[in-house]
Amino acid sequence: MANVPVQRMSQLMAKTLRDDPADAEVLSHKLLVRAGYVRRTAAGIWSWLPLGKRVLSNVERIVREEMDAIGAQEVLLPAILPREPYDATGRWDEYGPELFRLQDRRGGDYLLGPTHEEIFTLLVKDQASSYKDLPVILYQIQNKYRDEARPRAGILRGREFLMKDSYSFDTEDEGLARSYALHREAYQKIFARLGLDYRICAATAGAMGGSKSEEFLAPAEAGEDTFADCPNCDFAANTEAITYELKPVEASGVPAAEDIPTPDTPTIETLAASLGVPASATLKNLLVKVDGEIVAVGVPGDREVDMDKVEAHFAPAAVELVTETDFATRPDLVRGYVGPQGLEKVTYIADPRVAPGTAWITGANKAGTHTKNVVAGRDFEVGEYVDVVVVQEGDPCPKCGTGLVLDRAIEIGHIFQLGRKYTDALKLDVLGQNGKPVRVTMGSYGVGVSRAVAALAEQSADDKGLCWPQEVAPADVHVVAAGKALQTELALDISEKLAKAGVRVLVDDRAGVSPGVKFTDSELIGVPQILVAGRRAADGVVELKDRRTGEREELTVEEAIARLT
Ligand code: ATP
Ligand code: MG
Ligand code: MG
Ligand code: MG
Repeated sequence: MANVPVQRMSQLMAKTLRDDPADAEVLSHKLLVRAGYVRRTAAGIWSWLPLGKRVLSNVERIVREEMDAIGAQEVLLPAILPREPYDATGRWDEYGPELFRLQDRRGGDYLLGPTHEEIFTLLVKDQASSYKDLPVILYQIQNKYRDEARPRAGILRGREFLMKDSYSFDTEDEGLARSYALHREAYQKIFARLGLDYRICAATAGAMGGSKSEEFLAPAEAGEDTFADCPNCDFAANTEAITYELKPVEASGVPAAEDIPTPDTPTIETLAASLGVPASATLKNLLVKVDGEIVAVGVPGDREVDMDKVEAHFAPAAVELVTETDFATRPDLVRGYVGPQGLEKVTYIADPRVAPGTAWITGANKAGTHTKNVVAGRDFEVGEYVDVVVVQEGDPCPKCGTGLVLDRAIEIGHIFQLGRKYTDALKLDVLGQNGKPVRVTMGSYGVGVSRAVAALAEQSADDKGLCWPQEVAPADVHVVAAGKALQTELALDISEKLAKAGVRVLVDDRAGVSPGVKFTDSELIGVPQILVAGRRAADGVVELKDRRTGEREELTVEEAIARLT
């Protein structure tokens, strides 16, 4: 282990605070500010002070080691990006108000990267020409920018935040499945090493598009996600937003989905033509699948499937009709598009309770009719995609039927099998084994590095303050000089010896600060071991305290050093 110089609190550029910041709602926000780890620079924009930076760097190092271990190659792409590729995929518009857009002096459009699928796709398009160049996994650890509607909860939801984002490129679907599995395993190792309690949950792909996707959710009260967990089997799924509630209605008069002929070459136009309606018409009582995923549903008495919107959103993908029986096999989520009238279009639906042949009202354009307790502007932004919950506490698990438990959690990681959404839009091909071009298939994978710091703070803190697991802690030992010159001298001497042996030491050598305040601060800061040079310093006796258990032990200086090295 490399020797790290002793960090003296008398010189540390960070003051602990006695009171919680006035705007703080969640524990990690309060504690990270009070313990001097971070400072707010603007809404959702944070500065990392020395102790915070150490923790952040430790998380970053763990993430890097596990990414390197699966053969991923680290790169660093710009955070300021040109508009054109995002136009090509439609995300310049689709991302909505969350995207930071800016102009240069010539009026050219740019954005601050919220996530980098487009740019990585173009990089690989530039660098890879043959199947021999693939598969490849690229990653970066970089600040991301999202103009979050409600930046709150401190660094849990920043408008600038540190993310590890990686992207896999394969020529075949099995390759993508492999790259996805590699990431899944790497993430399990990362979060285990971080000491985070987490669940892997089925998720919707959201603004990212694509098919299979799972989230790593860390249970915590401060979390903004809700997940349904089965106490009996391994089923776990994000329920996203508990506000919406769906009600079944009777199917009436309108042809059932299975009675509507599937066109040979299914496109928006042929689909609409087969139903005898213009492509822009409102369709009823059918499901629409794009690339194998249900993207829209129409039901009696509701105006659901706005084909213009579907097309604008998913073009140029193929569309097919499916029957209601698909409801029963989907995870328990419904995804809706929120327009000016409220929830306008459902793009993804599934509920273990929906029996084949049952029709469901899935829209909420009539306020109060199909949703409960939903207020536009408060519960969702106009133009935003939201998830609509159908699962409730105690609902049967779709796998085993046991009553589901709902819990709050923080999304710390998210893995996606994107497929060809981005490579189609940006035309990424490589020469295949047979000499013909092959369209590349892609995955994208994120870890919220800065968010993981806050998630860890949430999960590990106690009523005294932060309480870091060893591997991410800003130091291994917090040496406290509790007394006068004699204690300070001893504390510094021990600190130097420990540092020489490779132990990371924070020493409280502040003059004019009472032992009581120093003890309180050491508990607030949360280094795993606290070594106090106090009353019996003259006899060469110190006290070693375990931050988590509070267990203390008197030891000679030599014993203490031996114990800690
Ligand atoms: P959320 O649902 O919390 O808004 P997301 O689903 O939009 O997150 P992804 O696009 O999946 O986020 O990004 C990958 C990871 O980046 C997330 O799993 C999360 O850990 C982290 N992340 C996303 N947004 C933020 C943010 N505003 N602040 C901090 N971390 C974030
Ligand atoms: Mg988000
Ligand atoms: Mg999310
Ligand atoms: Mg996500």
